[in-house]
Amino acid sequence: MASKGAKSTESVQPFYESSDFNSTIQISEYFGENVFGPKAMAEYLNKESIKAVQEARSIGKPIEIKIANQVAEGMKNWAMNKGATHYTHWFQPLRGSTAEKHDSFFEPTGLDSGVEKFSGKALVQQEPDASSFPSGGIRNTFEARGYSAWDPSSPAFIMEKVGGKTLCIPTIFVAYTGEALDHKSPLIKSINFLTKAAVDVCQLFDSKVKHATISLGIEQEYFIIDADLYAARPDLCFAGRTLVGSTAAKGQQLEDHYFGSIPDRIYDFMMDFEYEAFKLGIPLKTRHNEVAPGQYECAPMFEEADIAIDHNSLLMDVMENVAGRHNLKVILHEKPFKGVNGSGKHNNWSIITDTGVNLLSPGLSPQDNFQFLTIFINTIKAVYDHADLMRASIATAANDHRLGANEAPPAIMSVFIGSFLSEVLNTFESDKNSKKAGRVSEKTISLHRIPEILLDNTDRNRTSPFAFTGNKFEFRAVGSSDHCASAIIVLNTIVGNQLMLFKKELDALIKKGSKKQEAIEAILRGYIKSSKKIIFEGNGYSNDWVKEAAKRGLNNIKTTPYALDAYMSKSSQDLFINNNIFSHKELEARTEIKYEGYTLKIQIEGRILGELAKNYIIPSAVDYQKKLVDTIEAMQRIGQPRSSTKALESMVGEIAGHINSIWDNTEKMTQARKTANNLDHADKKAKAYCDKVIPYFEKIRESADKLEEIVDNDLWKLPKYRELLFIK
Ligand code: ADP
Ligand code: MG
Repeated sequence: MASKGAKSTESVQPFYESSDFNSTIQISEYFGENVFGPKAMAEYLNKESIKAVQEARSIGKPIEIKIANQVAEGMKNWAMNKGATHYTHWFQPLRGSTAEKHDSFFEPTGLDSGVEKFSGKALVQQEPDASSFPSGGIRNTFEARGYSAWDPSSPAFIMEKVGGKTLCIPTIFVAYTGEALDHKSPLIKSINFLTKAAVDVCQLFDSKVKHATISLGIEQEYFIIDADLYAARPDLCFAGRTLVGSTAAKGQQLEDHYFGSIPDRIYDFMMDFEYEAFKLGIPLKTRHNEVAPGQYECAPMFEEADIAIDHNSLLMDVMENVAGRHNLKVILHEKPFKGVNGSGKHNNWSIITDTGVNLLSPGLSPQDNFQFLTIFINTIKAVYDHADLMRASIATAANDHRLGANEAPPAIMSVFIGSFLSEVLNTFESDKNSKKAGRVSEKTISLHRIPEILLDNTDRNRTSPFAFTGNKFEFRAVGSSDHCASAIIVLNTIVGNQLMLFKKELDALIKKGSKKQEAIEAILRGYIKSSKKIIFEGNGYSNDWVKEAAKRGLNNIKTTPYALDAYMSKSSQDLFINNNIFSHKELEARTEIKYEGYTLKIQIEGRILGELAKNYIIPSAVDYQKKLVDTIEAMQRIGQPRSSTKALESMVGEIAGHINSIWDNTEKMTQARKTANNLDHADKKAKAYCDKVIPYFEKIRESADKLEEIVDNDLWKLPKYRELLFIK
């Protein structure tokens, strides 16, 4: 295989031989050492500053410039003692990755002298050029500039890369006209909104509850392949996935990879990236092989939602960065290989009160369970009412390949709660006692056996996009490369809104003279009745479910441009605007960015596929065809009968057929792209790409993959699946 990348593991120093690795040191000794957390603050800040930072985090109190100066000085000294020379505001613009612009602490004071400085002003605010980040039209009609502002709720940290160390300050990113240009600011708004609504409801049950937090644990799936093989695949490099490639003879059919032993080379990479993640305070807990060959998963302990999301963004960076040191490439795309499982990012989500109660954990007493059922049923109702918006929140070009495919949740939104809780809801809805006595029987809500039963029975429905797993809901349809904020903002907002509506309904009933307990029961009973269509306990991958869901009136929106329409529906606009999560302008801008992002992705894929077809696949096929023709001619020259070259001749014909088909379809695809590009609106363009361009991808791929199976291995220019997927 002449031109393909050779594996060069020899040149990579294993992590366990590096000076960083010491097999006798425990994780607790270096966990969080690169984070400006409580320990570092105690050493570098005075009491007044520590209190200010803590209050900024706990109650959102603004920090005065005098204090900001003190914090900046302490942060700088801490960072410099750790070897940092630069600082950056670190934020999450409206594209997948994070953004940084580094400034040095150094300021010259003469021709050969200088000092290291960092002011409160530089800590608090910076002005990166907003015009180079996606803004969905905000920059066209309004002021182009934006600024990043320190978010003291998330700790600063030091990013280490090839010897360089940079102090990173988490910030939000907003336009001068006030619109959010990032994921973080609306995320924080949605967290505050939901926690307030949840506390209001909790107080019905326990007046001691004053505050709540959203907990989030994000499981991250990914593939790893050799970096040299990756570099030899333009489709992986530029589109993040393989656009052609015949499925390997040995795939995941044997299912021997899941929880199997981890190959040494991968294990070494994992130890190294976990080491870096631990230093950054990312509380990783588990690692294991996933179902597909070359696929793995890691998961941290859950944290407060905003920190968990920061950490997930950081983790993706760290993984990609550390992989380079091992001559490996981490692939975060949702569906990098056809016929092989895709990757997701399960978002484990719950609400926890300041009295230490997990609101999605069934309790020991009927009263606790009543609170649990209230939050639980309201969540189901919220998902039912806003299922299309949930679908939209996870819609990307990449995730379209994954939803509904092998071992992934379908594009139909449904909720899995397990047979035990289904039974509980059924009994609750039709409680005989309640009809007689006007209240639900204690027996119905005496659920103290729930946790054990759930952990045994219900955790394992892997086909549901939104599953209750014992003490949390797990939003599994989120894509592996996606920024979780998009999904969590929607989830927080719909549940917060639903809890508010619930409280309003309740207050109205009580005003009319109903008893509190009876009123709550009546409302919840109504919610179960009206939203139970979304509950589905069966196999989400089966065709039967697609039919059944259609009967129930549940939507099955298969592609992103159509899913995204839900963002601008009347009910979504009301939801976001009335609750101050997004202004109309922000919502419009975000939706436009999502349509544009889709179009750009498909545009790039189309171009790369055209290039692969014309510069890689057809030339390989022609080379082989020539070899065949030469052989046929030679055989005829030496007098072999015509019949002896029959097979070769039919191969020549078959190759010609595929070449013609690839050529024709590539031309037609290019034409379809041109037509789509001429459309005006972002949504129309995205839909044209979806309906008119993508169908050619499959046609081209079909012929290309057939050729891969026929053409001489030595002449095939692209590394094949079996080489990419089986690192030992
Ligand atoms: P699985 O069986 O799906 O792998 P685990 O029990 O290992 O599930 O948990 C997966 C993730 O869920 C972890 O990140 C864990 O910290 C998180 N998690 C556990 N409890 C909660 C909770 N109450 N709220 C949010 N996340 C949680
Ligand atoms: Mg899970």
